Formats: sequence, structure tokens, C-alpha cells
Amino acid sequence: MAPASIAVIGAGPAGLAAAERLSAAGLAVQLYDRMPSPARKFLMAGRGGLNLTHSEPRDLFLSRYGDAAPRLEGALRTFQPEDLRRWAADLGEPTFVGSSGRVFPESFKASPLLRAWLARLTTQGVHLHPRHSWNGWTDDGRLSFTTPDGPLDVTADATILALGGASWPRLGSDGGWVARVREVGVSVHDLTAANMGVHLAWSDLFRERFAGTPLKRIALTCGRDSVRGEAVITAEGLEGGVVYALSRTIRAALRHGPTTLRIDLRPDLPLETLHARLTAAPKKLSFANLMRKAAGLSLGAAGLVREAAGADRPGDPMALAQLIKAVPLPLTGAAGITRAISSAGGIAWDEICPDYQLKHKPGVFACGEMLDWDAPTGGYLLQACFSTGRAAAEGVIAYLGA
Ligand SMILES: Cc1cc2nc3c(=O)[nH]c(=O)nc-3n(C[C@H](O)[C@H](O)[C@H](O)COP(=O)(O)OP(=O)(O)OC[C@H]3O[C@@H](n4cnc5c(N)ncnc54)[C@H](O)[C@@H]3O)c2cc1C
Repeated sequence: MAPASIAVIGAGPAGLAAAERLSAAGLAVQLYDRMPSPARKFLMAGRGGLNLTHSEPRDLFLSRYGDAAPRLEGALRTFQPEDLRRWAADLGEPTFVGSSGRVFPESFKASPLLRAWLARLTTQGVHLHPRHSWNGWTDDGRLSFTTPDGPLDVTADATILALGGASWPRLGSDGGWVARVREVGVSVHDLTAANMGVHLAWSDLFRERFAGTPLKRIALTCGRDSVRGEAVITAEGLEGGVVYALSRTIRAALRHGPTTLRIDLRPDLPLETLHARLTAAPKKLSFANLMRKAAGLSLGAAGLVREAAGADRPGDPMALAQLIKAVPLPLTGAAGITRAISSAGGIAWDEICPDYQLKHKPGVFACGEMLDWDAPTGGYLLQACFSTGRAAAEGVIAYLGA
């Protein structure tokens, strides 16, 4: 009997993790990707240090996936953060836990890890087909591709779809698969921006002067949720860790109407202490110096206070301290999906069997960001892609009785 042929479509972390597990089990894997080279988003993640996973306790870790946590739990328990760290170390890239509990490779890079990973896949017999763009299924159920040599239809004994979400489409994942999967009757929730920046109506002067400026050691609040960390002022508004961490809350708030965020620029300083410092400052200090010397604000943070106060800059130290502790930021909207770190939405969980097989498409499995889950930044995204990629591969192995 001819050996089973398995098609994995999408060579991001989820597809590569699936291909690795399948080939380790001795199965013949054909790996397809539309781009000239694999895992471009993974490499982009490497530019920020490659936050692979998180070291926090398991229940807290699971809670980061919100409503999707019960669905993802099995995969995340079977291939856990510790397994991901061991895997990276086996490929010559040991990891460490940063002060925030996030896990990074010691090299802070994705490229050496990816190089070693691809070499392992080649050794295990995985055949990579770059520049193969998947267009859906033919009428007789074959996989249809556009390739540099023209159209190609492929028969597979099992297929794993690992086509990603729709953020940063120039890296390969553009969500074009949504229409093809819906065409065969699979329900997919619209892909929307997750871990995205927010839009604010900065004045021209502020935008010109401060776009690109970081705001460090701040706390951002949306409704009842508050997060400490960093953000970056952009031409359109604000992005970065604290904004991403609140993105689920921000999206929900925006659905209900106008939303105002608040930034505490000195979360480590109680209001009374800040008030006392401002009161004790020499009266002849300029506003800029008052912000810098008495309030201890950076240039960007002081600019933000000035921007928020406008012409009504408070002279009263208590009112000024209150402003520094809760700078109001009325949102004009959320940034679009093309610049978001990840996307929410995807194939509905009701369509997915526990083995990651599509209920209405036997022999077809799905994994990674194309499923309907989202999570904040912190390593949760990559961990779920690795874990679901491995889980889908286990599903295929069981399905084929291999
Ligand atoms: C700037 C940035 C930084 C990030 N940093 C981190 C981080 O530090 N930690 C973290 O956990 N997460 C991070 N992420 C998110 C993380 O990279 C993604 O969640 C992850 O890459 C998703 O993996 P995936 O395999 O599901 O999809 P993808 O990585 O998007 O891979 C999908 C693949 O499918 C291919 N494809 C799509 N459509 C087709 C088609 N029709 N035919 C053939 N091939 C197709 C694409 O070319 C792509 O190679 C970051 C994302 C961005 C944009």
C-alpha cells in the first residue's frame, strides 16, 4: 500500500509544528505556503525578541484565552509552555524567563531557531513547496493551488489547514481562506483586529513632536480593567504592551459607544505624594520643568499632560496631580487589522471536533490563529499555535491509524 500523503497548508508556527510531529511519526508530509519562504510572521515576531510563551501558573495562563480556554485546554496541557521551552533548547536555542514572566530565547531572535527547525524538518523528510497559494477544493475534493508553474490539484489522505489570521497580510496570512472555507459550509466568525493599537485625535503639534516616543512605567485603564507596562505614541494614537493587553476590553467598550481610556503616568506614586511634590516645587519653574523635576515625567509623558490639558492647564497642584494620575484619552477608534499583532475570530469551535478535525470535512484539520480564539501578547499566541499544531497532527495520526 502507498504511504499516506498529508498536506499541511501554511508554513507558520502552527503548520510547522504539525509537520514536525507528523514527520516524526514517519508520515510523508507535503508542506505548502504561498510565500517564497516560510514563517515570515514568526520572523517578524523575532524583531520584538520572540516572546515564545509565558511562565505563569497554569490556571492563570489558561485564563488568558478567555471564552476559548476550555476548547484549547487539552492542546495546551498536552504541549505545555515547558514542552515549548524544551523544544527550543533541543534546537540549540535555550530560553529564559524575563522579569515579567515572559519567556524568550536567550538570543532574542527567531531566525536561528527557525533555521534549526527547518533543517530538522528537512531531515525528517518534510517537503516544502513555497509559492503555492491554496484556492480551496476542486469539485471532486482535491486541493487546488496556484503555483509559479500554473494551477496544481493535489490529492491528500489528510489535510491540515494552518493559514493564520489576517493581521500583517504582507507577511502571507490575509484571511483569504475564510471565503473558501465558508464555501464548503464551515462557519467562520469574521476576522477582526486583536492586540491592536488605538486611534486618538492628537493635535498636529503633538503628533509631529512625539510620534514614536515611548511611555514607560505607566498604567492604562479601560473601564474597570487596568494594566501596567509600556506604550508607544504613534501618529494615529497609541500602541504597545498595555494597549494590546487591554485590547479585548477596548473592543468590547467601543462596541457600546464612545470610550475614553485613562493613563496614569506615575502609577508608582500615590496621588498625595505627587500633590505634595507639585506643591513644594519652586513657583518660578516652567511647566516643562515642573513636569520633569517635580512630577518626574519623561518628555513624552509631559507632552501628553500638556496635550490633554490644552489651554485649560490646571494651576492648582491637586488638579494637576489628578490629571497626571488619570490623563483622559477619548478614543476615535481602534487600529485596523493590517497593523494588529493578531486577529480575533476564525473557524467556529462548533465546527471543530476535539481532534481538531472539521466536523463537516472529514480528513481536514485546522490549527493556529485561523481558529476562533485570541489572547493578549505575552507569548500566549505562539504557545497556542504550537500546541494546536501538535494537537491537529495527533488528530491526523489517529485518523489515519498511523
Ligand atoms: C509584529 C508581530 C509580532 C508578534 N510577536 C509575537 C510574540 O512575540 N509572541 C507571540 O506569542 N506572538 C507574536 N505574534 C503573533 C504570532 O506571530 C502569530 O500569532 C503566529 O505567527 C500565528 O501562527 P500561525 O501559524 O497560525 O499563522 P501564520 O504565522 O500567520 O502562518 C500562516 C501561513 O499560512 C500561509 N498562507 C496563508 N494563506 C495561504 C494560502 N491561501 N495558501 C498558502 N499559504 C497560505 C502564510 O503565508 C503563512 O506563512 C506577533 C505577530 C506580529 C505581527
